[in-house]
Amino acid sequence: MIYMERRVKKLFISIVGDSRASDQPEDLAVYGMDPHLEEKRPDLVLFPISTDEVSRILRLAFQEKIPVTPRGSGTNLAGEVVPIRGGIVMSLTKMNRILDLDIKNSLVRVEPGVLNYDLQMAVEEHGLMYPPDPSSWKIATMGGTVATNAGGPRTLKYGVTRDYLLGLTVILANGNVLKTGGSTLKNVTGYDLTRLFCGSEGTLGVMTEITARLVPKPEHRNTLVADFVSLADSSQAVIAIKKAGIVPAALELMDNAVIKLVETHAKLGLSTDVAAMLLVEVDGCREAVSAEIDRIESILKEHHVVRLNRSKSLEEAESLWTARRSAFSAMARQRPNVLIEDVTVPVSQLTTMIQKVGVIAQDTKVEIGIVAHAGDGNLHPFIMFDHENKGEVSRVEKAIDRIFREALSLGGTLSGENGIGLAKKKFLSLELDEVALKVTRDLKKALDPDNILNPGKFAE
Ligand SMILES: Cc1cc2nc3c(=O)[nH]c(=O)nc-3n(C[C@H](O)[C@H](O)[C@H](O)COP(=O)(O)OP(=O)(O)OC[C@H]3O[C@@H](n4cnc5c(N)ncnc54)[C@H](O)[C@@H]3O)c2cc1C
Repeated sequence: MIYMERRVKKLFISIVGDSRASDQPEDLAVYGMDPHLEEKRPDLVLFPISTDEVSRILRLAFQEKIPVTPRGSGTNLAGEVVPIRGGIVMSLTKMNRILDLDIKNSLVRVEPGVLNYDLQMAVEEHGLMYPPDPSSWKIATMGGTVATNAGGPRTLKYGVTRDYLLGLTVILANGNVLKTGGSTLKNVTGYDLTRLFCGSEGTLGVMTEITARLVPKPEHRNTLVADFVSLADSSQAVIAIKKAGIVPAALELMDNAVIKLVETHAKLGLSTDVAAMLLVEVDGCREAVSAEIDRIESILKEHHVVRLNRSKSLEEAESLWTARRSAFSAMARQRPNVLIEDVTVPVSQLTTMIQKVGVIAQDTKVEIGIVAHAGDGNLHPFIMFDHENKGEVSRVEKAIDRIFREALSLGGTLSGENGIGLAKKKFLSLELDEVALKVTRDLKKALDPDNILNPGKFAE
């Protein structure tokens, strides 16, 4: 780890001023961790408020070879903001202005600290929608969601964050200000640098402005919840819905372990004797929604659904979402620690993957519940354990290792949306071959030759 001299610390603090810098032990402790289990205190936390300040911080860091870890709200699930080599944590949360909401062109330009929720609310007032909706939307920043290419329940119909990006302002490791893309819907001038930075987890540059496109807010939506006694039937129903040419806005699955925990902790009146619960949402114009939801109901019946609950109002639709939204807190209450994994498999392999996770849970004696964005094959095994119990931690590690290997053997990926960070770094070579790893490292070296940007993570 690089020790930061007092002289250098003072130079950094002089860029933002005393009130937006801290080396107090309590701040260093908080900014040295995220939901991942590893932690490491930085030397200094800085809160810049402009592109110019971010640029000056990086210019100095480049000169002094000081590590800089960009940070939004710290909600990522892969240890992406743990400043493993010390140095500076650069919090972008004070850069939180919506700079331009261009209603005529359905565009928005924001600073990175704007919360996904705040953006959603601001654009909805004008009949528009920003589709990427991670379940952490109320607290995740736009910078964090772009740097992780976040998805969410609406991904099935609307795609992920990268599908909405038009342009970025990015500060490179040497402090240079790079503008990528622009504000037109079509742009093929040069390499697609915008998408290179999207998902780069703070390892290639720091984003200070994001321009994104918006879509019209759907006129209507309808939600239904369906219970199945057979997991295979629920997965077959998912495939059949997609095959019928219907693209629901969301197609979520909870397994029996999660249903039971949600019912224990939230008391919503769920049936705990079923193997899986599907939550399906359709949006669009009123007539199309009504026709599609009818068609989905008959597909679910053909696949032996045992209970159906269809919303009759927007309020009812919201209440049907409560079970899905309660899943994380229910599992967090069950045991001292919860790890949320995020493997993705081809949709046709969903049942197999869920069954394999069940076998792994039994073999390793680890408590695992599954929530899935079933429509796109993205599974979140929630692993519940006690970090203080070393024996259990070692069984959890074995379970995770097996989950990743099974997902890859089924043609899947290590991560559908949560990223690699520290947590999955050691598994990267299971998915990327030598050539892909070399190109990744060469890109990192070209843009950050001294490895000061979020070092110790997947890109080195
Ligand atoms: C309960 C829960 C549910 C979640 N659900 C989802 C989900 O449905 N879908 C999903 O995709 N994720 C989900 N996540 C993960 C997480 O919320 C997302 O990854 C989110 O995008 C992170 O935003 P953040 O502001 O917290 O970023 P942080 O965690 O602070 O940072 C994430 C990464 O972005 C980098 N970064 C942050 N800001 C910048 C910037 N301005 N420039 C460059 N790099 C930057 C950081 O260095 C880091 O690598 C969930 C997390 C929780 C706790």
